[in-house]
Amino acid sequence: MLQTVATPGSLPETHAMLAKLGSACLIAGGTAVMPTLNGGTDEFTSLVSLRAAGLSGVSIKDGSALIGAATTLSDLADVPALGFLVPALETIASPTIRNMATVGGNLFVKQPYGDLAACLIALGATATVSDGTNTRIDPVEKLVASRLGAGEIVTQVSFALPAEGSFKFTKAGRKAMNAAAIVTVAAVVTATDGTVTQCRIGLGGVAECAVRARSVEEALTGKAFDRVHVTEAAQQAERDIEPFDDSYASAWYRARVTPVHIRRALIGE
Ligand SMILES: Cc1cc2nc3c(=O)[nH]c(=O)nc-3n(C[C@H](O)[C@H](O)[C@H](O)COP(=O)(O)OP(=O)(O)OC[C@H]3O[C@@H](n4cnc5c(N)ncnc54)[C@H](O)[C@@H]3O)c2cc1C
Repeated sequence: MLQTVATPGSLPETHAMLAKLGSACLIAGGTAVMPTLNGGTDEFTSLVSLRAAGLSGVSIKDGSALIGAATTLSDLADVPALGFLVPALETIASPTIRNMATVGGNLFVKQPYGDLAACLIALGATATVSDGTNTRIDPVEKLVASRLGAGEIVTQVSFALPAEGSFKFTKAGRKAMNAAAIVTVAAVVTATDGTVTQCRIGLGGVAECAVRARSVEEALTGKAFDRVHVTEAAQQAERDIEPFDDSYASAWYRARVTPVHIRRALIGE
């Protein structure tokens, strides 16, 4: 049963509170934590809120974005330099949820959620993790797979802004808006003279966490950026995913449609 809710006013105080309370869960926007709590859980007896810890805000500097982990998805969508992310952000839940949901929270929600995490993987984003004494910087793709140690907090994520028009996104769900993913595809593709020179692809909804489609990237790099080569490379996705059954789709269906949605994300057809 919940016994304590703490709202520390800084990162050091947050670490101190986590250490003091023992069985505590960090809460940011609470859009995932609160349903767990309301459903009844014995996983924690205290909540430590990041609301006042000074971890929100976005700064754009020297072509890179630095995003505080407690920044809400709505605030992210309001940053002009991050306009390329708006179509992806608008597929996540409803405006009301996005007013609460945070960037850091999106890294740790259970699949088929975590659409922003897939985007961050495609963008080659890194996350800064603090344990109260030291900080480390992990690629987001590594962090979402390995999760966090006890007492660790993500303080910010950062990435280089992609060249205009190079960021691609599509999300297949059971309805167009406000639906959990069957497959989410995010990618940054650079082509020179019609040949793919660089390519990073993040996938959501098709494994235990958002994953990088390295096999597809390798198959496509150096090839013509056209329907034939993208279709062929997308078939390699089966090496990168471990799809699951849920109430939205079967593992079989997810595996079957993943290459189709990769193609649609990359070349729009
Ligand atoms: C109706 C509904 C629809 C939704 N639809 C979508 C959707 O379409 N796509 C999607 O991606 N998500 C969806 N979500 C899930 C969720 O709203 C988002 O993923 C959101 O970004 C989670 O952020 P939060 O701040 O609310 O997380 P919280 O609930 O506060 O936390 C989630 C987890 O992250 C941990 N955490 C949070 N911040 C940090 C941090 N800085 N450092 C370390 N750990 C941290 C918490 O301890 C907890 O384990 C939906 C949720 C609801 C209720």
